[in-house]
Amino acid sequence: MDFTHLENASDGKKYFNVNWGLTNKCNYECSYCHPDLRDGSIKPANYDDISRFVDDVFLYCEQKGVKPYFEFGGGEVTLFRWFGELIWKIKNQGGLVSIISNVLALFIGGKAI
Ligand code: SF4
Repeated sequence: MDFTHLENASDGKKYFNVNWGLTNKCNYECSYCHPDLRDGSIKPANYDDISRFVDDVFLYCEQKGVKPYFEFGGGEVTLFRWFGELIWKIKNQGGLVSIISNVLALFIGGKAI
């Protein structure tokens, strides 16, 4: 049997990663998804607090000489009316964003896959 190994890419040292579950509310009910991940039972933070935390992360990264990289998941993050504003805020300050969303599934077939 062949073995492989995992190691950090040296490029990864240039980034500070924030993996952030913004909400546990979702507009789908996928059969394989635990209700805790989609039932909306946890009240999300408000935009002002989230925005302030993002600013704090940028300040920290500036001191460390690294770039912020935010990964947002849920639930469904695009349900927030302010979500576009949040990702533009991060982009305009030079940060990176990725999201885990069901929106692509919506465009493909109208159902979560
Ligand atoms: S779209 Fe994602 S969060 Fe929503 S129910 Fe399906 S797996 Fe869960």
